[in-house]
Amino acid sequence: MAGIYIHIPFCKQACYYCDFHFSTSLKKKDELIQCLVKELELRKDEFKKETVETIYFGGGTPSLLTNDELAFIIDAVYKHYKVIENPEITLEANPDDLLNDRIIQLSKSQINRLSIGIQSFFERDLELMNRAHNANEAIECLSTATQYFENISIDLIYGIPGLSNKEWII
Ligand code: SF4
Repeated sequence: MAGIYIHIPFCKQACYYCDFHFSTSLKKKDELIQCLVKELELRKDEFKKETVETIYFGGGTPSLLTNDELAFIIDAVYKHYKVIENPEITLEANPDDLLNDRIIQLSKSQINRLSIGIQSFFERDLELMNRAHNANEAIECLSTATQYFENISIDLIYGIPGLSNKEWII
């Protein structure tokens, strides 16, 4: 059994704490998608004996890709690899990309798991980290996402300067 991780190295803005590889320019987005699909084809023999159980879009901010772009990449996985019947397909997504309509659209796509970059529910922390979303968006996207997706995880950051244990427990 195998899992395929697909890195989408684009973000709206740079969070101050981040060490991942990303660019805030989307100029190369189309080119990158074409290259990813090409690489999936070129490396298909590496997984000849494997069956793919999971597909994971990480980043960066994969929720910057449109549903059509995500489907284009997923189709390439199906085309070149043996995939189980109901694979887990995860999208890492930021709350500012998860407005109601987008969540509903995604719930009708092949994506069946969301990993949401909440990081904090406090405005002060989000500003300190230069996150692109605010506290309301964090709460609202989670409330809608749980109505449309059964499989969700969220990222939260512990140890932000000024964050008390009491706030963490809340
Ligand atoms: S959105 Fe994620 S990957 Fe992008 S800068 Fe912020 S923490 Fe880093």
